[in-house]
Amino acid sequence: MRISHFLLPICLTGFALGANPSDLKMNDRFTISPTCNGRDLDGLLAESVVMIKNAITALTALLGNIRAPNDELQGWIRAAQACWAIPKPEWYQQELAPVDKNRLRMVRRNFEMLLDVLDDLDYTTPSDNFMYCHSTDLRLTNMADEVFDDAPKGQSIKDYIGPRLPDGASKEWVWVDPNNHHHRILEGDGPSKLFFPDGYAGGQLCGSPSSMDALTYYKIPKKIFLCPNAWAKFRPSNSQNRQDKGRKLYYEWQNMPGLLIHELLHWLALMPSEFHIGDRNVWHPKEDRLVAAYGYVGAFLLSGHRARTDPRNNWPPDFTLTNADSYNVFATMAYSPLALFAPDDTASGLEFGF
Ligand SMILES: [Zn+2]
Repeated sequence: MRISHFLLPICLTGFALGANPSDLKMNDRFTISPTCNGRDLDGLLAESVVMIKNAITALTALLGNIRAPNDELQGWIRAAQACWAIPKPEWYQQELAPVDKNRLRMVRRNFEMLLDVLDDLDYTTPSDNFMYCHSTDLRLTNMADEVFDDAPKGQSIKDYIGPRLPDGASKEWVWVDPNNHHHRILEGDGPSKLFFPDGYAGGQLCGSPSSMDALTYYKIPKKIFLCPNAWAKFRPSNSQNRQDKGRKLYYEWQNMPGLLIHELLHWLALMPSEFHIGDRNVWHPKEDRLVAAYGYVGAFLLSGHRARTDPRNNWPPDFTLTNADSYNVFATMAYSPLALFAPDDTASGLEFGF
C-alpha cells in the first residue's frame, strides 16, 4: 500500500517541502476540474504549506521552555489552549505537563505527515486525486435505494438505517453522487439518531451558496470539493494577517488556506491505520443538539473548557487530535500570534458538515 510507509516515524522528515512554496503546483498533485477555472489553487496550496510549517514551528516552541513567553509564544499558548486542551500554564511553569506535550507531539506529527505527503509526488499522483470547486451533481437524498444497493425502492434512509444502528450511535446526513454512487454517513458520538429533515432532499450539497463549504472523499479516487460557499465566505488569502494585532472575532479570520488544511487532513486518510482525522461533534452551547466541532467555538468546546458548566462537553482531550478543524483553527491562530482571537457570540461557526 502506498501509504504504509507514512506510518514509520523514521520516514518523517519533519520539514519536508524545502522548495519555495510559491513553486508548488496543485496540478502536480490533483487533477483539477474545469470548475476551478479562475481560482488561484497554486497560491492557495503555497499558503497552506506556509501555515503548516508555521504551525510546526509553533508546536516545537510549545514543547520547549514556556516560562516568561514573548508575545509570539503567548499567542501560540492561547492557540494550544483553544485547540489542544492545554490548561493555562502557571506563571512559574517551565514546561507544559508531559501528557500535554505528548498530545502536542501527536499534533506536530500529523502536520509533518501532511507536509510529507504533499511533498511526495508518488502519493499525490493526479490520476488518484481530484479537486473540484463546484458540483451540481452532489445532492442530499432521503431515499435509501439511491445510496444502498440492497435497499427496497421507496424506503427512506431513516427507516433503512434505523434498525441497523448500534445502540448509542448517531448518524447524520446522507448524500449521493449520481455519477459514482458514493455515499457517506457520518457517525457521531452522541446518543441521538439524527437525520436531515426531508425538506432538504434534492438540495445541492456543493454548488449553491446555501450548501456545504467543502467536503472530501477519502477513498480512492480521492476527491476534494472546495465549494462556492467557501470561496464566497472565507478570506481567499491569509498572508496579509501575519502581524495583525487586536481582538478579532474568529469567523472574520476564516480563510481558504486553513480550510484546505482541514480538507487535506481528511484526504490524508491513513486508514486503515490507527488514525483518521474526521469532524468530531460537540453539544451546541445553547441548543440541545450535536454539531460539528468547527471554528474557534467548536475547537474550544471539544477541548473541554466548558465542561464544568456543561458536562456533556467533557470530552477526552485526545478527541481534539482527530478533529480536522482544530488543525485549521490552530494553524490560523498560530499564523497570527499577536492577534487576540475571540469566539463569535452567536456560535454561528457551529454547523453540521463534513
Ligand atoms: Zn471536515
